[in-house]
Amino acid sequence: GRAAPPDYVARLNPEQRLAVETTEGPVLVLAGAGTGKTRVLTTRIAHLLATNKALPSQILAVTFTNKAAREMRHRIGELIGPSVEGMNWLGTFHAIGVKILRRHAELVGLRSDFTILDTDDQIRLMKQVIQAEGIDEKRWPARQLANLIDSWKNRGLTPEDVPPGDGGSFADGRGIKLYKAYQARLKTLNACDFGDLLLENLRLFRDHPDVLKDYHQRFRYMLVDEYQDTNVAQYMWLRLLAQGRKNICCVGDDDQSIYGWRGAEVDNILRFEKDFPGAVVIKLERNYRSTSHILGAASHLITHNEGRLGKTLFTDATDPDAARVRVASSWDSEEEARAVGEEIEALQRKGHKLNDMAILVRASFQMRSFEERFVTIGLNYRVIGGPRFYERQEIRDALAYLRVVAQPADDLAFERIVNVPKRGIGETTVRLLHDHARARNIPIIEATEELLQTEEIKSSKTRTALRDLLAAFVLWRSKLDQMKQGELAEMILEESGYTDMWQQERTADAPGRLENLKELVRSMEAFESLGGFLEHIALVMDTDRAENQDAVSIMTLHSAKGLEFESVFLPGWEEGLFPHQRALDESGRAGLEEERRLAYVGITRAKQRAMIWFASNRRIHGLWQSNVPSRFLDELPEKHVEVIEQTSSYGGYNVGGVGNYGASRFDRADSFNNSYSTPGWQRAQANKGSAQTHTRSAPRQIEGELVAKSSGSSSKYKLGERVFHQKFGYGAIIEIEGNKLTVDFEKTGAKKVVDSFVSKH
Ligand code: ATP
Ligand code: MG
Repeated sequence: GRAAPPDYVARLNPEQRLAVETTEGPVLVLAGAGTGKTRVLTTRIAHLLATNKALPSQILAVTFTNKAAREMRHRIGELIGPSVEGMNWLGTFHAIGVKILRRHAELVGLRSDFTILDTDDQIRLMKQVIQAEGIDEKRWPARQLANLIDSWKNRGLTPEDVPPGDGGSFADGRGIKLYKAYQARLKTLNACDFGDLLLENLRLFRDHPDVLKDYHQRFRYMLVDEYQDTNVAQYMWLRLLAQGRKNICCVGDDDQSIYGWRGAEVDNILRFEKDFPGAVVIKLERNYRSTSHILGAASHLITHNEGRLGKTLFTDATDPDAARVRVASSWDSEEEARAVGEEIEALQRKGHKLNDMAILVRASFQMRSFEERFVTIGLNYRVIGGPRFYERQEIRDALAYLRVVAQPADDLAFERIVNVPKRGIGETTVRLLHDHARARNIPIIEATEELLQTEEIKSSKTRTALRDLLAAFVLWRSKLDQMKQGELAEMILEESGYTDMWQQERTADAPGRLENLKELVRSMEAFESLGGFLEHIALVMDTDRAENQDAVSIMTLHSAKGLEFESVFLPGWEEGLFPHQRALDESGRAGLEEERRLAYVGITRAKQRAMIWFASNRRIHGLWQSNVPSRFLDELPEKHVEVIEQTSSYGGYNVGGVGNYGASRFDRADSFNNSYSTPGWQRAQANKGSAQTHTRSAPRQIEGELVAKSSGSSSKYKLGERVFHQKFGYGAIIEIEGNKLTVDFEKTGAKKVVDSFVSKH
């Protein structure tokens, strides 16, 4: 019967339904978070199949991640049943690009069994190309060339397309030449790098119109999710494929464009209407995901961005008991993790599932304190979109160095780092060392010493490298009793060239890796000895993975795109972390606005509750850093926010409650020249525009005292002593714990403060 619309269409609102039923011609759905864009896509596919407009194999559907593709396949399966299996063109740009390329490889000078290089291979190859050109690889590192070439590929430019002079100063203007040489090398190797997948598709379509025409025939309908994050090459690819039938439906949200740093262009949204004249543009305004408080907070926050297409959002959710977005402060990241853990356990006691909760961080190094806390209290968690903290490559490398220092016989650790960073100790040499160790039944490090006495290792460069490395380990080991393990670790990472290796690397994830290394060093401070630390790590690494169990998700804001959870925890809202320092250092507003969109993405992941934290102190690299709360906190509308007063003793940084501090509820020097109500220490930082580290003397003192915590205090203050604090005024000390004083302030009552922020009176 045709009388009633099918079930799945009946479950849509009129605008969504229009987007689903307008099957012919270009359609652009431009709508805010949680309005059902992804649902429109899945329903549209179901509709196309149910009405026999296309076979599963005639639909091209593009998602942003493989995970999103799996999810979409699952949802469509629920609507249409097993025929979803015929959808073999549902995937990411890359996945679909490879598939097309394999079918026509010979047309672009490849064989169908071409290999796809990983980043390591790619860099190695570029190095060769640079050297072959007689260019100094030290001055013009391969990583930098890789970035340059990637940016061209993101823009859809083959070497022939790059305008002369583009690429600027790299190798004195020889960038394009190197690009050409690199592509030629790839062809002889029958290989592609990641960026080539789409680029070679473009070349294929351009040079072989008949092939393109075949795909026009095949793909009757095209659908694209997260359209705002497509780059130029992806856009060109879509446009070429859609030229035939023009049945393309893109959904996106300009406010959620968060991959500008990887070449995504929001302008693609504006171009759509130009390139596809007559496109039906549909706006969805009803949000089905979040409570009115969550939506209100996020919508207001994003109005602070200038570059927006602008749209309204509303929700019918009218739960009178719905919680406001809660904002709380903590002392430092450890306490933040403890407080989040307590919130999660409280929810769990009320019957909420861990699967419905997520912690979304700005930078991956933030994950460590949560992981460690959750291991301690036995709370299941999973890290999404990347390895757990201690399983990250850079952390494992650093730990390997430390393990060899603590335990020279740790062969696995030694082998891991013997040539990291590259020292010219090749695989043949390592095998030689290995075999000798086996034959003599001694640790490799000893075998190395023995072999260095003989002539077996031929290359003098290799011999010197090995000798230097062994000497370095002897030196580091001798410092074990003299230095704090954190400082020693820092020294080892410096002297071994390991930190430098990542500093030289100019890929997008290198700064994050450096942050992780700093966090590792920082985390070591809490331990008595290097041995104690390594033992702790072994325990933490040994915990089961919570694959199919109920577990809290921990992930970056970037990888949370498109997802939703009942409860969302957003830690680390501090200037310099979020917005990230790199964005603040950029000139212009673009970086800051992308950070704000990331904040918008974060809040809008929440269905029922969102809770934001900022830590007053973050110890980075062993230095106390006093934080200024994120400007994004000030940009949240009062009526949707609840500021949590610290009732426990730990909250040294009192956020004060709504309205207490006039214009700036979070006591942040909002405009940097209007800061008379701001404590001096905070003003000093604010004047520099972001959180600053204190001088070296403060952390030394603090570290020492933290260690001496149980054995009394070395504070220069005495119990009962009267002190003055810039913000809280006069008070008497009632408790001393390390560098933290509990002071009974005359005006505000007892608070915990860092001793360096008070003066004697
Ligand atoms: P994002 O921008 O975050 O990707 P989105 O616009 O893709 O969000 P969806 O994930 O498709 O939004 O939908 C958000 C939530 O609202 C989902 O749980 C979805 O099932 C639900 N939803 C969407 N449309 C409707 C509707 N018409 N009736 C009931 N629930 C709906
Ligand atoms: Mg979506």
